Amino acid sequence: MCTKLSTSPCKPGLDAAACGRPPSNEASSPALVGLSRSFVTPYLAWDGRRPDDLFEVARELVEDVTFPTIHRWRDHGGKVVGHFQVYFPEEIAHAGGLLPVKVRGAQVEPRQADARFGSYLCSIIKTSLESALSGHLALDLFVSHPICDAARNLAAVWARNFGYRSEILYLPQNPNSGYAATYLREEYARLKQVIEEIAGREITDDDLRGSIQLFNRNRRLLRRLDRLRCVRPWLLAVDEAYVLAAIGGLMPREDHNGILSAALPLIARREGRPQGRMRVVFEGGFCEQPPIDLLHAIAECCYVVADDLMVGLRWIRDDVEIPGDPLLNLARAYLDQSTYSSVQHDARKPKERMLLRRMRSTRAQAAIITAAKMCEPGLDEQVAYIRALDAEKLPYFVSEFEERMRSFDQLQMQLETFVENVLFA
Ligand code: SF4
Repeated sequence: MCTKLSTSPCKPGLDAAACGRPPSNEASSPALVGLSRSFVTPYLAWDGRRPDDLFEVARELVEDVTFPTIHRWRDHGGKVVGHFQVYFPEEIAHAGGLLPVKVRGAQVEPRQADARFGSYLCSIIKTSLESALSGHLALDLFVSHPICDAARNLAAVWARNFGYRSEILYLPQNPNSGYAATYLREEYARLKQVIEEIAGREITDDDLRGSIQLFNRNRRLLRRLDRLRCVRPWLLAVDEAYVLAAIGGLMPREDHNGILSAALPLIARREGRPQGRMRVVFEGGFCEQPPIDLLHAIAECCYVVADDLMVGLRWIRDDVEIPGDPLLNLARAYLDQSTYSSVQHDARKPKERMLLRRMRSTRAQAAIITAAKMCEPGLDEQVAYIRALDAEKLPYFVSEFEERMRSFDQLQMQLETFVENVLFA
């Protein structure tokens, strides 16, 4: 719900992070604290700058196909877990001292990867592999999920091309089964064992609790960012919110927390007045990511008050419990405290009803229903969304995208016509 904007100040420790010191109230492994300092310095030299500067730096980082943050981490002797979209329990990798990195494609030509796949595939699969084949995305472990045939097969293709382990994390096919949480806890325990082997040390429950605490803070900050955009969308465009959230998948979460804590008050103080733009929900960015220029084109005529871009970072909607069995707490949070996406089939969360609820809670006037080209789950879901929106007589705009799209003029013109029809018809 975006009915109230929190104006409470950042908690103690966060300002320290913004000044380049690790937040004092966040648990993190000693190895991470040492590494974290080296990240914080360049990216938090933002302190005192204008929000526009923040977005520019964040965008450069998101679009940099050489993944400089990962190289920086590795140069300091750190190890990296690359996990494919959509959701991954990053806390487990963090607790082992590894850097969890979101593998979400890149704007590259898949020259080498093309030879490893058939042609009828979404782009993210190929460009993710291309990033690794080119040497820019250097990992110590790759994890995929059976969210679709393409993602499931990616783990095997990856394993054939690299010397390190490639795993599939089997998230429950039936989240409504009474055994789903127990099953998922065991699957997380298996993943923990793999990570322990790579880290060369045991991951204790206290390590996990410390990491859960850190990620809880990150999710809280992301929720504040979402709320701010929903309540005062003229202060934060969808492309700006996107880059600020997406960099979290590329750097230690300690640093991301520091960046968000520094950015939120700056954005809240930004000058700007409400304009006569339509409030919309953007649906279809759960896996392959649209180009940032496409999001910018949308922001030129609409206020995107909610979206599912990089939804894995915001999958869990509340704090994960700290006391008790941390793996079971993470499993329960994945099942019971989560949002929705086209790749999770939970009878408690029919996607079309969830979309309508999201529109109502954000006071959206319309929806942009989109999907990546060749994305079966995304395109399938469009049918259900459209039916539900028709039944409710809610306006919607349907489109497709590809991460390497370069021209957005036509889309922007169509969108402007759509907006005029809704607002002035
Ligand atoms: S974009 Fe769609 S088809 Fe491609 S990997 Fe993601 S979910 Fe699968």
